[in-house]
Amino acid sequence: MEKTISIAIDGPAAAGKSTVAKKVAELLGFTYIDTGAMYRAVTNAVIKKGLNPQDERQSETVLPGLSIDLLPGGQVICNGEDVTRIIREPLVSGNVSYIASYKNVRLALVDMQRALAKSRSVVMDGRDIGTYVLPDADVKIFQIASVETRAVRRYEENIAKGIPTSLKDVEEDVRKRDYIDSHRAFAPLKPASDSVLIDTSFMSVDEAVEAVLRVVKEKTGVAPKC
Ligand code: C5P
Repeated sequence: MEKTISIAIDGPAAAGKSTVAKKVAELLGFTYIDTGAMYRAVTNAVIKKGLNPQDERQSETVLPGLSIDLLPGGQVICNGEDVTRIIREPLVSGNVSYIASYKNVRLALVDMQRALAKSRSVVMDGRDIGTYVLPDADVKIFQIASVETRAVRRYEENIAKGIPTSLKDVEEDVRKRDYIDSHRAFAPLKPASDSVLIDTSFMSVDEAVEAVLRVVKEKTGVAPKC
């Protein structure tokens, strides 16, 4: 079997990881895996059942039999339902970091993530990919940007998707998620010791993609075909 390659892209909320990861995957012909979408799908399942996402015991009850499919077109299917749009709504964004701090939720999703990366080359983005999910990833990137830049980017993304939010609320959400994500006990957000830091505060998407591709080339010898 041909050797597979895994690229881990971690970093704080709204640092542009998914935009960059998607493009890098497309250019290299790898599968893109958005692990944040998986935590969002669990959060939505909890809310949909009328459970309290800030209650660990209640939230864990959605795990048995839970199915999450990430389709190649970017759609997220949870328990047979298309949740692509609803998982970006403020109610889910505001609660997802609580759900992501629960150990049993993380263990269940990490199993799915490792299975997805097993037999194919992937670009996987998240918070703990290089440190915990794929500690042997061939390439580890830690992508950051200033909190102000990240808030503006996420605000503009929401507006483009027709999700009404204010810039102030988005900035608060980003700060809150950063805090919870980096202070949780299990697999917190932090750079892997062997990761390469890329600050995209003053980079365009294309420049950030180029920067990641340079690291990929350096570490693996792999480059886009054209
Ligand atoms: O990447 P995104 O911002 O959509 O992720 C939503 C949330 O899911 C993050 O704020 C974080 O709480 C959680 N997450 C995580 N570990 C990952 C991916 C996301 O804890 N690997």
